[in-house]
Amino acid sequence: MKATLTVLGSGTSMGVPTIGCDCAVCTSADPHDRRTRPSIMVQWDGHTVLIDTTPDFREQAIRERIRKIDAIIYTHGHADHILGLDDVRPLSFQRITGGKKIPLYASDNTARVLRSVFRYIFEADYKYGGLAQVELHPVNGPIELFGAKFTPMPVLHGDVPIEAFRFGSAAYLTDFSTIPEESMEQLQGLDILFLDALRHQPHPTHSTVENSLKIVEQLKPKRTFFTHISHDLPHEATNATLPENVRLAHDSLKLEFDL
Ligand SMILES: [Zn+2]
Ligand SMILES: [Zn+2]
Ligand SMILES: [Zn+2]
Repeated sequence: MKATLTVLGSGTSMGVPTIGCDCAVCTSADPHDRRTRPSIMVQWDGHTVLIDTTPDFREQAIRERIRKIDAIIYTHGHADHILGLDDVRPLSFQRITGGKKIPLYASDNTARVLRSVFRYIFEADYKYGGLAQVELHPVNGPIELFGAKFTPMPVLHGDVPIEAFRFGSAAYLTDFSTIPEESMEQLQGLDILFLDALRHQPHPTHSTVENSLKIVEQLKPKRTFFTHISHDLPHEATNATLPENVRLAHDSLKLEFDL
């Protein structure tokens, strides 16, 4: 099945430009150096699934003209991956969903964070509308959606296991420092691989360009895109140093793949 993957955001938690920073990347005129918070959208046969809802979701949805969301899958509960949930409101209204709540797929840990941060949604005690119409679903194995399958696999974000996902010939691994061996085994034969690559300098909870290049050598996907990128990596200059089949992702990047 043919599908399109759109990069909604390719930046690290603070976004690029970073507030208050005058570095070369934050002041760059290259639009590729403008990175909103990290998220992707997968579309096929008229269906739209998001992975994460960032604090920039509103801007991303307007930019990409998102008209409906069929499901949202979460990688973990950090602020840069969840805080846009409230902004799905206009897409959760009855005239768009036909009265169905938008399903949110989240691990127990992530669901706990969502319920507490968005308590006003999940424990609403007022009935006057205006709330995002969403409902939590647990993730206990592959998520089957409209003939496609999103298979979760653990990656380690520092010490904390979070979710990465394989779907067809593509996989999305954000916010990891280590990939356990059993997850590496599920990442063979990929056409498209997204990997966290924050910067060059080591970080306790994120992969680096160098570490992610080692993973590319092991897994040998056809094409790799680095994401969750900080202001340490200028787009053009960094791409010039990477192998031809490895690129920095950028906001609005669109890729076709087999789902
Ligand atoms: Zn993050
Ligand atoms: Zn900067
Ligand atoms: Zn995180």
